[in-house]
Amino acid sequence: MQYTEIMVRYGELSTKGHNKKNFIDRLGANVRQALHKFDQVKVHAQADRLHVDLNGENYDDVMNNLKNVFGIQTFSPTIKVEKTFEATCQAAEAMVAEQVKDHATFKIETKRADHDFAMDTFEMNAKLGGYLLDKFPDKLKVNVHNPDMTIRVEIRLNGIYLSSETIKGAGGLPVGTAGKGMMMLSGGIDSPVAAYLGMKRGVSMEMIHFFSPPYTSPQALAKAKQLTEKLAKYAGSIKFIEVPFTEIQETVKEKVPEGYLMTVQRRMMLRLATAIMEKRHGLAIFNGESLGQVASQTMESMLAIEDVTNYPVLRPVLSYDKTEIIKIAEDIDTYDLSILPYEDCCTVFTPPSPKTKPNVEKARLYEKHMDIEGLMQRSMDGMKITTIHPGEDYLNQNEDVFAELL
Ligand code: ATP
Ligand code: MG
Repeated sequence: MQYTEIMVRYGELSTKGHNKKNFIDRLGANVRQALHKFDQVKVHAQADRLHVDLNGENYDDVMNNLKNVFGIQTFSPTIKVEKTFEATCQAAEAMVAEQVKDHATFKIETKRADHDFAMDTFEMNAKLGGYLLDKFPDKLKVNVHNPDMTIRVEIRLNGIYLSSETIKGAGGLPVGTAGKGMMMLSGGIDSPVAAYLGMKRGVSMEMIHFFSPPYTSPQALAKAKQLTEKLAKYAGSIKFIEVPFTEIQETVKEKVPEGYLMTVQRRMMLRLATAIMEKRHGLAIFNGESLGQVASQTMESMLAIEDVTNYPVLRPVLSYDKTEIIKIAEDIDTYDLSILPYEDCCTVFTPPSPKTKPNVEKARLYEKHMDIEGLMQRSMDGMKITTIHPGEDYLNQNEDVFAELL
């Protein structure tokens, strides 16, 4: 079937009042970005719908890319024909021939925006239905309540549009409409899922990853980049900010009692994330914490850690069970990467029994022995920012090192 366009229906954003224009413009830009490799495609983001003119491009390929764009509720491959009953019949006939193998029930659902068109909706439904029943007497039966196939016919000023499939979009809000967030991305299972969920609510994420060579290996860094690559398809591209953390961890280990190693390390991470965010004009910090999952993820611990920032620390997977997080990780294809074995900078320095109820006064006190400013400055000086695009490969550049692990 040679479809001429993909008709895209907006999700939640249809209800966003005067912000609507921003939402639609952003979605249009995001769709263009997602489809940029299709030279012939033209995107028209209109008030009620978004239209992707295929101009001969393969509709399956285009739809596969559309599936990753947040802010889309559903979409339908559509064929535009000239404004005659005959042309409408031919297109509908081709749709049935292609989509119905043995038998199916069907109905026609016509909408008419052009009231000068000779047939009204009732007449189009009846006559087109009759035509198809004549053509496919053994295949088709009418069922207006619960049909297998609904052929939608829209009579508009510039043509008649037919579609029969409705495909579920990614939902959520267009990336960028909520502003910029800084994601603290480890190589674990939870933080990539948290990043995905934040992006789904319209956040444009930048990844912050702390690494501690030589305690952490180059492949740990490559893995965090590859996880970012997996998420880049939802945003077009993602900035990856790698921040050296070795000196800080060594200092914490030296100066801070074992029970507070985790708390003070986390406070340092959050201080750095805050400083980076201020430079880059972000609005909130995101992490992959889930309440009660490990020692540092109690409310007491969150209180002691958040003491160092005035910004919101948002936790998209806070209330999710591990099994629920894993399910999403599998759906977004980050799980297999996340479970690759390697030492994270936290794992290396994790004390055997961190405090589950750290005290904020004590954390502040132990930090008095550290040159916080200097440590942060040196860490920030070593920061490196790269832009990660979908399809890029970071793991296989390190094939040799990885071969040992797999
Ligand atoms: P994850 O699976 O996301 O690593 P986790 O359950 O293993 O989470 P922790 O390792 O305690 O939990 O980390 C909690 C959160 O702290 C992570 O979700 C992430 O947001 C942040 N974090 C941990 N390590 C790093 C790191 N090396 N760089 C950036 N952020 C980190
Ligand atoms: Mg972890």
